[in-house]
Amino acid sequence: MTAAIGGTPLIRLKGASKATGCEIYGKAEFMNPGGSVKDRAALAIIEDAETRGVLKPGGTIVEGTAGNTGIGLTLVGNARGYRSVIVMPETQSREKIDFLRMIGADLRLVPAKPFRDPGNYVHVSRRLAEESGGVWANQFDNTANREGHRRTTAAEIWAQTGGRIDAFTCACGTGGTLAGVALGLADAAKKHGVARPRIVLADPEGSGLYGWVKNGDLSISGGSITEGIGQSRVTANLEGVVFDDAERIPDAEALEQIFSMLAEEGLSVGGSAGINVAAAIRTARKLGPGHTIVTILCDGGARYQSKLFNTAFLRERGLPTPAWLD
Ligand code: PMP
Repeated sequence: MTAAIGGTPLIRLKGASKATGCEIYGKAEFMNPGGSVKDRAALAIIEDAETRGVLKPGGTIVEGTAGNTGIGLTLVGNARGYRSVIVMPETQSREKIDFLRMIGADLRLVPAKPFRDPGNYVHVSRRLAEESGGVWANQFDNTANREGHRRTTAAEIWAQTGGRIDAFTCACGTGGTLAGVALGLADAAKKHGVARPRIVLADPEGSGLYGWVKNGDLSISGGSITEGIGQSRVTANLEGVVFDDAERIPDAEALEQIFSMLAEEGLSVGGSAGINVAAAIRTARKLGPGHTIVTILCDGGARYQSKLFNTAFLRERGLPTPAWLD
């Protein structure tokens, strides 16, 4: 099944392109076998651990995840004969929890705690790996994650745009996608003697990265209903990445993009894709017409039916609802 990971289409987003006079493209990562961009990181991390000889036949992979990396690790693990122990905050969507159980993950749900708390899912997963002799995937600080994106996602985007790309916008969980694509596109631009694209962080409310890019301050305010993105620290995957700008996107603005992509383009995407496209549109408006902007459609909307497409859930939070569900 690993042959099905990557090689995703780059889709021209006609609504976003028309509204800005730019060419805006979304990389259809929801088409990976596990349904998200994180299949690429899972495969890269497993292959790195195999190469280093730490992951042996019949071994166990342990990871803390918002869900998508756990799905990728479990599916690749199934294909290669590894067991997977997945630690996840219980606040994540019901659909991801059910799917992880369905595919055979040994799932441990924990209360949502900040990173500084020893009960945070990342620390719980590290301790579980140490105690059980399993291999800790450590997606946040294991740079095999970004190297996988550098080799595959970045190379695909460069080929699919013919190297004509003015800006790349992306949200961060681990930072693996943003960093790998940013580094890979910069390598390719250098090789071809052209300017590298601008790298723009797309950040939800409740994340520290926007303030960090803008003024070096990681402090956090607010919150978001999106999952898998936002960060309170500079992970190893994010180290050394040069950011040209950052956009902080409120949930309502991301939802507007999610609903219009579905109704007008037939694309069903999740919350982080909405944040990414909203940031691409803001970037297009800043750059002016005629530019090419690429972003990531990280996963699909069905994974969040009970939240992003649940009118009661949205109304309780004062958020917009899709017209066709009203
Ligand atoms: N979007 C979704 C839906 C995710 O699950 C994740 C990963 N947690 C991301 C975006 C962020 O990707 P990365 O970890 O590569 O920064």
